[in-house]
Amino acid sequence: MDKKLEALLARLGEINDLESAAALLSWDQETYMPPGGGPARARQLATLGRLAHEKRTDPALGKMLEELRPYEESLPYDSDEASLIRVARRDYERAIKVLPSFMARFYRHTAESYMVWVKARPANDYRSVQPYLEKTLDLSRELADFFPGYEHIADPLIDYADEGMKASTVREVFAELRTQLVPLVRAIASQPVADDAFLHQHYPEAEQLAFGLEAVKTLGYEFQRGRQDKTAHPFATKFSLGDVRITTRVKENDLSEALFGTVHEAGHAMYEQGIRMDLEATPLAHGTSSGVHESQSRLWENLVGRSRSFWRFFYPKLQAAFPNQLGAVSFDAFYRAINKVQQSLIRTDADEVTYNLHVMLRFDLELALLEGRLAVRELPEAWRGRYQADLGIVSPDDRDGVLQDVHWYAGTIGGAFQGYTLGNILGAQFFEAAARAHPSIPSEIERGEFDTLRGWLKENIYQHGRKFTANELVQRITGGPLSIQPYIRYLRSKYGELYSL
Ligand code: ZN
Repeated sequence: MDKKLEALLARLGEINDLESAAALLSWDQETYMPPGGGPARARQLATLGRLAHEKRTDPALGKMLEELRPYEESLPYDSDEASLIRVARRDYERAIKVLPSFMARFYRHTAESYMVWVKARPANDYRSVQPYLEKTLDLSRELADFFPGYEHIADPLIDYADEGMKASTVREVFAELRTQLVPLVRAIASQPVADDAFLHQHYPEAEQLAFGLEAVKTLGYEFQRGRQDKTAHPFATKFSLGDVRITTRVKENDLSEALFGTVHEAGHAMYEQGIRMDLEATPLAHGTSSGVHESQSRLWENLVGRSRSFWRFFYPKLQAAFPNQLGAVSFDAFYRAINKVQQSLIRTDADEVTYNLHVMLRFDLELALLEGRLAVRELPEAWRGRYQADLGIVSPDDRDGVLQDVHWYAGTIGGAFQGYTLGNILGAQFFEAAARAHPSIPSEIERGEFDTLRGWLKENIYQHGRKFTANELVQRITGGPLSIQPYIRYLRSKYGELYSL
């Protein structure tokens, strides 16, 4: 390897180590840390964050990247070395554009705002967070303005999470999806809601955890490079390619929560575990965008985990684990229950058909706030209006309305939500491409075999890490741009059959 590139990677490796140490401290905070550790942990994370930021913006790094430019240009775009330099330059240029004093202000504010929201939500008290949200909106605009030349003020914020995506393209894709989804949701909503009462019997925690672990082991999540622990708000995290962890939350009166949550997080984790080991500690050793990451969690959770084929294999095992609860429940009744569609208030509990309506209205409200078409004080009313229009249901309070998601209260307004729906769209596109390349995949899933599917995902997506952006991956895999058609085909065929549409 080129000597200069080696020196660059050594520096970037140190940044990676600081970030990994911070990730471990955060994981501990969310799993085992006693409450008394809170203040010191916040300080430790701030120190690590500051050290990493100093290293990320070191002018010496800029000089090295500049010297490597001719070398990069002499290499093919998709070579490892050119990709390492390209992605490192993108990270560097993004990091140096934002003033360190702004970032300090921003983190201090979002930490305060989060604390206020934690109290405001159960108290149904939007008024107390409103001034914080107003400041968040100002700061979000200020952050965007460090990246002049944008077409829409949300673009730089969207680009942080979903590189290469813009408000205009996302808006167009969402509008098209909405046109297709709304009639589908209406048609389903005019029919009786599936009965899922038996999913809400008592399911002891130990058995739930054991079943979930067995399921994700079968899918291919590797436990010699991972583990699972309990937490309040489940997530997946990585400290190295040899240590990618998942967390879960068990509700003893709700079988779906831990089961599908565990498969979801394992989907994120298998993506990270599938990155080529020789990219360890380099800027390429991460998933490429929030949309592609969600495409993997949702592919495993929904396209695989809520499919008939999957349960042909797993349902007898689930019945054996819970004979009293499920022994008398037929396969079809179970399949209908786990795919119940219902117009509901809470995004995180929504089914895969209505879920995107929750995301799209949040995305539109973000744009309206950033554009100044909507004031923060008018947000609860606008929120209720959109729920009425899109889902035909309105929360009587703000607790399960505008206060329900942490995103705006602990981060930017803009860029927070589009990844979820992009993930649904991309997941279907990738799954369709995998099944076209290997028509045996559905019958393999019925036998509890997942190697072909996971192998295809690894070959085409996982191994590359951040080498390609979401748009580049879709182009390479499907030969065309992002398209909602595979997702619509999937929903129409699955729910058309379930509801005889
Ligand atoms: Zn996720």
